[in-house]
Amino acid sequence: MNKPLIVIGGGHAGAQMGASLRQEGYDGRIVLISAEDTLPYHKPPLSKAFQKDPATQPQVLRAEGFYSDNAIELALGQTVERIDTHDRTVSLSDGRKLGYSTAVLATGAKARSIEALDGGFTNCLSLRTLADANALRDAAADANDIVVIGGGFIGMELAFTFAGLSKNVTVLEAAPRLVGRAVAPVVSDHMHARAQTAGIRIVTDTAIEAVDGNAGRITAVRVKDQAPVPADLVIVGVGVDADNRIAREAGLACENGIAVDDHLRTANADILAIGDCANYRHGLIDRKVRLESVQNATDHAKHAARTITGTLRAYDDVPWFWSDMGDTKIQMVGVSFGADEHILTGNREDNAFSVFHLSAGKLVAVDSINQPAVHMISRRLIAAGHTPQPHEMTGGAEGLKQAYKAISDAGR
Ligand SMILES: Cc1cc2nc3c(=O)[nH]c(=O)nc-3n(C[C@H](O)[C@H](O)[C@H](O)COP(=O)(O)OP(=O)(O)OC[C@H]3O[C@@H](n4cnc5c(N)ncnc54)[C@H](O)[C@@H]3O)c2cc1C
Repeated sequence: MNKPLIVIGGGHAGAQMGASLRQEGYDGRIVLISAEDTLPYHKPPLSKAFQKDPATQPQVLRAEGFYSDNAIELALGQTVERIDTHDRTVSLSDGRKLGYSTAVLATGAKARSIEALDGGFTNCLSLRTLADANALRDAAADANDIVVIGGGFIGMELAFTFAGLSKNVTVLEAAPRLVGRAVAPVVSDHMHARAQTAGIRIVTDTAIEAVDGNAGRITAVRVKDQAPVPADLVIVGVGVDADNRIAREAGLACENGIAVDDHLRTANADILAIGDCANYRHGLIDRKVRLESVQNATDHAKHAARTITGTLRAYDDVPWFWSDMGDTKIQMVGVSFGADEHILTGNREDNAFSVFHLSAGKLVAVDSINQPAVHMISRRLIAAGHTPQPHEMTGGAEGLKQAYKAISDAGR
């Protein structure tokens, strides 16, 4: 039998990979191998709706019939332990060895841990998978004092979710501001204020010094210059690292993720890497990045499918991301890194505003707070490489639509 194309990892990127290959007309065998024993599912709800109600079920990305209808063979609950690039095989956790024609690494990322908390405490959890989400939901049901370590997206989403369930939530953040790696300072300030209004205690510029424990459980977290923070449950949300173990061991170059070229191929022509695990040069900003978002995972898969079926184009899809924190939807498009001018529009008091980031006069990113129409039209403008006039930016969604209409009418 012909050697199949093997997709390693059944998350957002891996599941889309199978679908996109079929859409692009790939008619060879496809095997999707996933360490998780469930059908690929949506991850974003796990820190939001899924935590709010014990009856909420995971949402699968595609029903089981989709895979059988499209002849995508599933090997669920199986981990690829090793890739042998010489005889082009992968070794599975059940002892099988499968040959591949092409392998696509879609292994995602793993939650980071903190050394001070490495004591095997039963009430110290992190969130990456459905199994983690189930464990967290069960633990939170019996917890009153919840300490969230890390004020990034996942930490803050969980903080708002649990504060909404009347828990005492404290967020401990090492940096001077919340979600500092991703959003403008004004957005951090805004979310800090809204978190406090929601009853969340925020401590920034802090460091975990130690924990108090009893019978294998943390009872309090000690941070510098503060009284111990009582804890029934500690959630560690300090970011993720690319899951590149099998790539590294196979001799593929890795630096903050698996290194790939503009077409998402590793240096080994038969192996590609996509999604959270891939480090690539982004055509839009001309620098190397590893992005963690559903958009990046999905668009990578579509792009890799085109690479495999013979259409070579440098990847330059505009990155975008969203996060829900309580009643606030944050949407971001573009990459604000290196921007030197920031234009604030809308009204913070109404919890509806946007920040336009410009670099040398060119629009490179927009952060929107509860302004989905601004976000949507900004995606088009950035993709078109067009910078609206200041009055068009301050004109909200209508002003931006006018700007976009003008370039569309001009055929640009
Ligand atoms: C709680 C949570 C909330 C999020 N919210 C948002 C949001 O609001 N908006 C947004 O844009 N993004 C959000 N994200 C990020 C988004 O989910 C990720 O960027 C996306 O899942 C990346 O897709 P991926 O396929 O690259 O990796 P993953 O979805 O992590 O999938 C990787 C899969 O590969 C499997 N795997 C790894 N190694 C092997 C192996 N050796 N053999 C077999 N299988 C393997 C893993 O078990 C996993 O199933 C959220 C993430 C989490 C965890």
